[in-house]
Amino acid sequence: NDRKKTVKDYIRTIVDFPHEGIMFRDVTTLFADPRGFRICIDQLLHPYAGERIDKVAGLEARGFIIGGAIAHQLSVGFVPIRKKGKLPGKTLSQDYKLEYGEAIMEVHDDAIQPGEKVLLVDDLLATGGTAEAGIKLIERMGGDIVGCAFIVDLPELGGRDKLASLGMDVHALCE
Ligand code: 5GP
Repeated sequence: NDRKKTVKDYIRTIVDFPHEGIMFRDVTTLFADPRGFRICIDQLLHPYAGERIDKVAGLEARGFIIGGAIAHQLSVGFVPIRKKGKLPGKTLSQDYKLEYGEAIMEVHDDAIQPGEKVLLVDDLLATGGTAEAGIKLIERMGGDIVGCAFIVDLPELGGRDKLASLGMDVHALCE
Protein backbone atom coordinates (compact mmCIF):
# COMPACT_ATOMS: atom_id res chain seq x y z
CA ASN A 1 0.00 0.00 0.00
CA ASP A 2 1.59 3.22 -1.26
CA ARG A 3 -0.91 5.62 0.27
CA LYS A 4 1.31 6.43 3.27
CA LYS A 5 4.40 7.17 1.16
CA THR A 6 5.63 10.76 1.32
CA VAL A 7 7.40 12.72 -1.43
CA LYS A 8 10.72 11.97 0.25
CA ASP A 9 10.05 8.21 0.06
CA TYR A 10 9.99 8.36 -3.76
CA ILE A 11 13.40 10.12 -4.03
CA ARG A 12 16.42 7.90 -4.66
CA THR A 13 19.97 8.67 -3.53
CA ILE A 14 22.85 7.92 -5.88
CA VAL A 15 26.23 7.78 -4.16
CA ASP A 16 29.31 9.39 -5.83
CA PHE A 17 27.39 11.19 -8.62
CA PRO A 18 28.40 13.36 -10.47
CA HIS A 19 31.68 12.84 -8.63
CA GLU A 20 33.07 11.08 -5.58
CA GLY A 21 31.76 12.20 -2.22
CA ILE A 22 28.46 13.58 -3.58
CA MET A 23 25.14 12.02 -2.55
CA PHE A 24 22.91 12.92 -5.48
CA ARG A 25 19.20 13.18 -4.71
CA ASP A 26 17.57 11.65 -7.77
CA VAL A 27 14.01 12.87 -8.33
CA THR A 28 13.43 10.86 -11.53
CA THR A 29 12.00 8.04 -9.39
CA LEU A 30 9.52 10.55 -7.91
CA PHE A 31 8.56 11.85 -11.37
CA ALA A 32 8.20 8.32 -12.78
CA ASP A 33 5.64 7.30 -10.17
CA PRO A 34 2.06 8.39 -10.97
CA ARG A 35 1.13 8.98 -7.33
CA GLY A 36 4.53 10.45 -6.48
CA PHE A 37 4.39 13.03 -9.28
CA ARG A 38 0.78 13.97 -8.42
CA ILE A 39 1.42 14.53 -4.68
CA CYS A 40 4.65 16.41 -5.50
CA ILE A 41 2.86 18.91 -7.76
CA ASP A 42 -0.11 19.25 -5.36
CA GLN A 43 2.18 19.89 -2.38
CA LEU A 44 4.36 22.40 -4.27
CA LEU A 45 1.21 24.44 -4.99
CA HIS A 46 -0.48 24.05 -1.61
CA PRO A 47 0.83 27.23 0.13
CA TYR A 48 -0.20 29.43 -2.80
CA ALA A 49 -3.89 28.44 -2.93
CA GLY A 50 -5.96 31.58 -3.50
CA GLU A 51 -2.93 33.72 -4.39
CA ARG A 52 -2.58 35.51 -7.69
CA ILE A 53 0.10 33.89 -9.87
CA ASP A 54 0.53 35.13 -13.45
CA LYS A 55 3.55 33.04 -14.53
CA VAL A 56 5.56 30.05 -13.38
CA ALA A 57 9.34 30.25 -14.00
CA GLY A 58 11.35 27.01 -13.95
CA LEU A 59 15.11 26.52 -13.67
CA GLU A 60 16.80 24.18 -16.17
CA ALA A 61 16.33 21.29 -16.30
CA ARG A 62 14.20 19.55 -13.66
CA GLY A 63 12.49 22.86 -12.86
CA PHE A 64 10.94 22.58 -16.34
CA ILE A 65 9.24 19.28 -15.45
CA ILE A 66 7.56 20.54 -12.29
CA GLY A 67 7.11 24.09 -13.60
CA GLY A 68 5.23 22.88 -16.67
CA ALA A 69 2.89 20.74 -14.57
CA ILE A 70 2.27 23.60 -12.09
CA ALA A 71 1.63 26.16 -14.85
CA HIS A 72 -0.85 23.79 -16.49
CA GLN A 73 -2.63 23.22 -13.17
CA LEU A 74 -2.94 27.01 -12.66
CA SER A 75 -3.78 27.72 -16.33
CA VAL A 76 -0.94 30.26 -16.50
CA GLY A 77 2.13 30.59 -18.71
CA PHE A 78 5.50 28.93 -18.17
CA VAL A 79 8.88 30.67 -18.52
CA PRO A 80 12.10 28.64 -18.89
CA ILE A 81 15.28 29.99 -17.27
CA ARG A 82 18.08 28.27 -19.14
CA LYS A 83 21.81 27.75 -19.19
CA LYS A 84 23.69 30.13 -21.48
CA GLY A 85 23.29 29.72 -25.24
CA LYS A 86 20.09 27.65 -25.32
CA LEU A 87 17.39 30.30 -25.79
CA PRO A 88 16.91 31.53 -29.39
CA GLY A 89 15.56 35.05 -28.80
CA LYS A 90 16.96 38.18 -27.15
CA THR A 91 18.00 37.31 -23.59
CA LEU A 92 19.01 38.77 -20.27
CA SER A 93 22.04 37.03 -18.67
CA GLN A 94 22.95 36.55 -15.04
CA ASP A 95 26.15 34.96 -13.78
CA TYR A 96 26.25 32.87 -10.62
CA LYS A 97 28.70 30.77 -8.60
CA LEU A 98 29.06 27.03 -8.97
CA GLU A 99 30.99 24.67 -6.70
CA TYR A 100 33.94 25.13 -9.05
CA GLY A 101 33.83 28.39 -11.03
CA GLU A 102 30.93 30.30 -12.50
CA ALA A 103 28.03 29.79 -14.87
CA ILE A 104 25.41 31.91 -16.62
CA MET A 105 21.61 31.62 -16.67
CA GLU A 106 19.46 33.33 -19.30
CA VAL A 107 15.83 34.23 -19.89
CA HIS A 108 14.06 35.78 -22.87
CA ASP A 109 13.92 39.50 -22.12
CA ASP A 110 10.18 39.72 -22.95
CA ALA A 111 9.10 36.59 -21.02
CA ILE A 112 7.74 38.47 -17.99
CA GLN A 113 5.97 41.84 -17.94
CA PRO A 114 6.52 44.41 -15.15
CA GLY A 115 4.18 43.75 -12.21
CA GLU A 116 3.48 40.13 -13.10
CA LYS A 117 3.32 37.75 -10.11
CA VAL A 118 5.82 34.93 -10.61
CA LEU A 119 6.30 31.59 -8.85
CA LEU A 120 9.90 30.29 -9.23
CA VAL A 121 10.39 26.52 -9.06
CA ASP A 122 13.26 24.01 -9.11
CA ASP A 123 13.80 20.47 -7.87
CA LEU A 124 16.46 21.14 -5.24
CA LEU A 125 17.87 24.06 -3.23
CA ALA A 126 21.54 23.67 -2.24
CA THR A 127 23.69 26.84 -1.97
CA GLY A 128 20.93 28.90 -3.57
CA GLY A 129 23.21 30.26 -6.29
CA THR A 130 21.08 28.95 -9.15
CA ALA A 131 17.83 30.21 -7.62
CA GLU A 132 19.41 33.59 -6.86
CA ALA A 133 20.32 33.97 -10.55
CA GLY A 134 16.68 33.19 -11.45
CA ILE A 135 15.39 35.68 -8.88
CA LYS A 136 17.65 38.43 -10.26
CA LEU A 137 16.53 37.75 -13.84
CA ILE A 138 12.84 37.86 -12.90
CA GLU A 139 13.32 41.02 -10.86
CA ARG A 140 15.30 42.71 -13.66
CA MET A 141 12.21 42.26 -15.87
CA GLY A 142 10.03 43.84 -13.18
CA GLY A 143 8.44 40.57 -12.10
CA ASP A 144 7.16 40.27 -8.53
CA ILE A 145 8.15 36.91 -7.00
CA VAL A 146 5.32 35.34 -4.99
CA GLY A 147 7.51 32.48 -3.74
CA CYS A 148 10.29 30.00 -4.50
CA ALA A 149 9.19 26.35 -4.34
CA PHE A 150 11.49 23.31 -4.26
CA ILE A 151 11.02 19.60 -3.76
CA VAL A 152 14.20 19.27 -1.64
CA ASP A 153 16.06 21.74 0.57
CA LEU A 154 19.59 20.89 1.77
CA PRO A 155 19.59 23.29 4.75
CA GLU A 156 23.24 22.84 5.70
CA LEU A 157 24.24 24.43 2.37
CA GLY A 158 22.57 27.71 3.28
CA GLY A 159 20.31 28.26 0.28
CA ARG A 160 17.17 28.87 2.31
CA ASP A 161 18.93 31.52 4.41
CA LYS A 162 20.35 33.16 1.29
CA LEU A 163 16.94 33.39 -0.36
CA ALA A 164 15.31 34.55 2.88
CA SER A 165 17.92 37.35 3.08
CA LEU A 166 16.74 38.41 -0.39
CA GLY A 167 13.21 38.68 0.99
CA MET A 168 11.99 35.47 -0.60
CA ASP A 169 9.31 33.15 0.73
CA VAL A 170 10.86 29.66 0.44
CA HIS A 171 8.75 26.50 0.31
CA ALA A 172 10.30 23.00 0.28
CA LEU A 173 8.63 19.61 0.59
CA CYS A 174 11.48 17.84 2.41
CA GLU A 175 15.03 18.18 3.70
P1 5GP B 1 22.60 25.47 -5.88
O1 5GP B 1 22.72 26.52 -6.95
O2 5GP B 1 21.45 25.80 -4.92
O3 5GP B 1 23.87 25.23 -5.14
O4 5GP B 1 22.28 24.08 -6.57
C1 5GP B 1 20.97 23.76 -6.98
C2 5GP B 1 20.95 23.33 -8.41
O5 5GP B 1 21.80 22.20 -8.60
C3 5GP B 1 19.55 22.94 -8.83
O6 5GP B 1 19.28 23.41 -10.15
C4 5GP B 1 19.57 21.43 -8.75
O7 5GP B 1 18.83 20.85 -9.79
C5 5GP B 1 21.03 21.05 -8.87
N1 5GP B 1 21.43 20.01 -7.87
C6 5GP B 1 22.49 20.07 -7.02
N2 5GP B 1 22.58 18.96 -6.28
C7 5GP B 1 21.56 18.16 -6.64
C8 5GP B 1 21.10 16.85 -6.20
O8 5GP B 1 21.64 16.17 -5.31
N3 5GP B 1 20.00 16.37 -6.80
C9 5GP B 1 19.34 17.08 -7.76
N4 5GP B 1 18.24 16.50 -8.30
N5 5GP B 1 19.74 18.29 -8.20
C10 5GP B 1 20.83 18.83 -7.65
